[in-house]
Amino acid sequence: MHPPIRIRILASGSQGNAAIVSLRPRDAAPSHFIIDLGLSPRKLCGALAVENIKPHEIAAILITHADADHLHGGWARRWPFENAKVIARRAHHRAIANAGIQPAHMLDADANSQVFFPQIKTFALPHDQSGSTGFRISIDGVAMGWATDLGHMSSDALAFFAGVDALCIESNYDLQLQRRSSRPDFLKERIMGGHGHLSNVEAMQAVLHIHGKRALRHIVLLHLSSQCNSQDLVRDLWNTHAPELTGDMQVATQTLSLPWLSVGQPRQCNWSESLFAAHL
Ligand SMILES: [Zn+2]
Repeated sequence: MHPPIRIRILASGSQGNAAIVSLRPRDAAPSHFIIDLGLSPRKLCGALAVENIKPHEIAAILITHADADHLHGGWARRWPFENAKVIARRAHHRAIANAGIQPAHMLDADANSQVFFPQIKTFALPHDQSGSTGFRISIDGVAMGWATDLGHMSSDALAFFAGVDALCIESNYDLQLQRRSSRPDFLKERIMGGHGHLSNVEAMQAVLHIHGKRALRHIVLLHLSSQCNSQDLVRDLWNTHAPELTGDMQVATQTLSLPWLSVGQPRQCNWSESLFAAHL
């Protein structure tokens, strides 16, 4: 049986972000989406080819925002997604057009909880001057959320993501490393001031809040800073404060894509569960 939602995170971090999302409705053909174009055409099209997905099969491209790590400049030279609509906030349309994408392909995602395709809802998140966009994708009672490059998680944003089965959320920096880093003060303030990025603790608090409304089955932490974070710091934090969730948590990296994440299938029996079952 095919899961309703599959997610493949190809890369995540300040050097480039991109993911493939494949939806398979119960009685219809699969459809494919891309979240962010932060990889070069060569890398992203190569990854699609490995998955046997043709660029013309991409139905939509969801752009969180137009910074270079989410919109690679190389797309100006090559645009193979002839059937794709680009879903992005209007504040990002000019930068997206400058990257070579025809305005005719773009859909305006300014209104919160606007519905596209009809499985995709958008939500405005705080990030720098022009913000970023969060996405909630749902099909046949299964849902995933995508929240990256955001300075804080408001109660409205938490409500937007409540009830998802899988949450992909940025966990950008460790507070102590950020404070002690040699970065200039204005940059630290930009990152930590509520309109930059989420710290590890802020990401974990958001996850715990959303998990408290309805149990999350998959958590993927995105966009770890290479200067002010590490997988070990993130895992230590979660092992200390949310050990019950670490089995369902993965950390995306800049250089290695994560395996496909299947959302909406029964959980695989893990080692402790099998041990428990063996004792029954
Ligand atoms: Zn970014």
